[in-house]
Amino acid sequence: MQLTNRAQKVDSKPMNLKELAYLPAIVSGMATTFKHIFRRPATIRYPEVKREFSPVYRGVHLLKRDEQGRENCTACGLCALSCPAEAITMTAAERKPGEEHLYREEKYASVYEINMLRCIFCGLCEEACPKDAIYLSDSIAMSNYTRKDFIYGKDRLVEPFPRPDKHINKFEEDRRLNWLDGRPR
Ligand code: SF4
Ligand code: SF4
Repeated sequence: MQLTNRAQKVDSKPMNLKELAYLPAIVSGMATTFKHIFRRPATIRYPEVKREFSPVYRGVHLLKRDEQGRENCTACGLCALSCPAEAITMTAAERKPGEEHLYREEKYASVYEINMLRCIFCGLCEEACPKDAIYLSDSIAMSNYTRKDFIYGKDRLVEPFPRPDKHINKFEEDRRLNWLDGRPR
């Protein structure tokens, strides 16, 4: 019984001597290889070479600080509420006397986490934020070996401030340079 009308008849005639030698196939394969030798490669040598991203590219998030280095986020939860992937979780805390130089508002996020495996980089969190606190940068999420390493906490999200002298991590260095360039947008 025929299950589909797209069935095709297979030509099962025996191969001739030329076909048995695989010569035409080898020549045609080599011709294709040589044709591509002189073409511009479609791939790049990442991570040494990086592609230019579109100006509207949305990458890993940054939690912004103000010009005095205080965290902008006030843990209002609007970003988490607007996130369609439910990727954001946070814990709010009250700013204590003496912490005015750390947090701009009286309430701040003592814990702020984004699950990068859930995130679809839609940018809705950025649009929902009333405090200019969260931005999507043009850094890509780094590869990791375990799921828990894709949960980015404040240590990886908060914008570095003041300008650090040295960085142990290339990702952090890229984030800092992007920030100094006037990015993220
Ligand atoms: S970019 Fe979109 S999916 Fe990712 S955390 Fe923000 S709102 Fe959620
Ligand atoms: S990042 Fe913005 S929207 Fe999210 S909790 Fe902080 S202040 Fe609110």
